[in-house]
Amino acid sequence: MNLPTMDTLPSTHFDGVDLLALAGRHGTPLYAYSASAIRQRIAGLQLALHGMDATICYAVKANGSRAILELMAQAGLGADIVSAGELQRALRAGIPPERIVFSGVGKNDDEIGEALAAGIQRFNVESLDELHAIERIAGERGATARAAVRINPDVDALTHAKISTGKSENKFGVSIAEARRWFDARATLRHVRLDGLHVHIGSQILSLEPYRLALQRVAAFWRELRDAGHPVASIDVGGGLGVRYRDGDVTIAPADYVAVIREALAGFDGRLLLEPGRYLVAEAGVLLTRVLRIKHGEARDFLVLDAAMNDLARPSLYDAWHDIVPVSGEARPQAIYDVVGPVCETGDTFAQARALPACAAGDLVMIRGTGAYGASMASTYNSRPLAAEVLLDHGRHALIRRRQTLDEMLAGEQSASQWETT
Ligand SMILES: *Cc1c(COP(=O)(O)O)cnc(C)c1O
Repeated sequence: MNLPTMDTLPSTHFDGVDLLALAGRHGTPLYAYSASAIRQRIAGLQLALHGMDATICYAVKANGSRAILELMAQAGLGADIVSAGELQRALRAGIPPERIVFSGVGKNDDEIGEALAAGIQRFNVESLDELHAIERIAGERGATARAAVRINPDVDALTHAKISTGKSENKFGVSIAEARRWFDARATLRHVRLDGLHVHIGSQILSLEPYRLALQRVAAFWRELRDAGHPVASIDVGGGLGVRYRDGDVTIAPADYVAVIREALAGFDGRLLLEPGRYLVAEAGVLLTRVLRIKHGEARDFLVLDAAMNDLARPSLYDAWHDIVPVSGEARPQAIYDVVGPVCETGDTFAQARALPACAAGDLVMIRGTGAYGASMASTYNSRPLAAEVLLDHGRHALIRRRQTLDEMLAGEQSASQWETT
């Protein structure tokens, strides 16, 4: 697959759309996503999976915007959800329930009931207590839940600690020893059909080795289960494929990723499930923001943007790097800036000592690689309304989320006038 790397694109246009005009039309901060780039990513992964019984369940938490989920639905993808809210988003976007899998360590009873009522494909079960809760709730409803056990393979995904999920000290999944006990006791489950395995070791993974190791462990367990007479209908290999956030990031090609899966799971004739999130959308998104002012500090110059950590949390949360590029066709001298937002936190910093073309107040700037875990993690901290979002497609653009109004931000709040006791 030949996806144009972002730096080969002119920095005044994205997916054929003039970004200065776009920002003039919708204001800033503004998330803009390229539908073409998302479709390319999907097609590349589907091509690599050609001929396999595989379902791609897009991880909704990466970017759950309705129009983005509709792109996924149109391409035949399913969804990996982690809450009832994401279930509703996926269903409303037209993703069929039989392509939805439900992950997460803290599903509550209502969420489990809602997912059963919707008829989702399966639960990825993270603890014995949760398995028992699903058994009880399915029993109450006269339903049968399909379940996969999430294996914690104790593998280091070699990524940021806060997005590593497959080490034994992480809260996710259970050990193979525990999973073995679940399968041995399978006959005692009357309302849960436990016939799947699931593994997800972390996010922004740039090396195949952790995948290989985790899948080898899962495959060995699948063979053991098969030999013990336990049918395994599906193996869900999770998500985590990394993206290129900066020069020098070398990503995993889908064909190489799928080759590792094929090799590790050779002989498995059930359904393969994949849960990519970031890989499908991160590089398809930019956050457009204006320079409010340049502040000359004692030690450094600050580029103060109108976007902040509430719009894009990744730099403050994970020290994540995002390329920051002025939207301008002209050549400019370089300057060094700390790039910051208006929020009253020192952590509201997008980049430190970053060399950029010199900027002036009013300039439009884009923060690249923000299609995943950008808008979906946004908050209204500092009482800043949620940013608008647009979808771009070959020179056209459509507003997919209008900027939140002040009234919408404050909706639901009231004075403490209706006091109750008990
Ligand atoms: C977050 C998550 C994903 C998606 O991770 P990406 O790194 O965005 O691909 C997939 N599966 C599970 C269980 C997750 O929690």
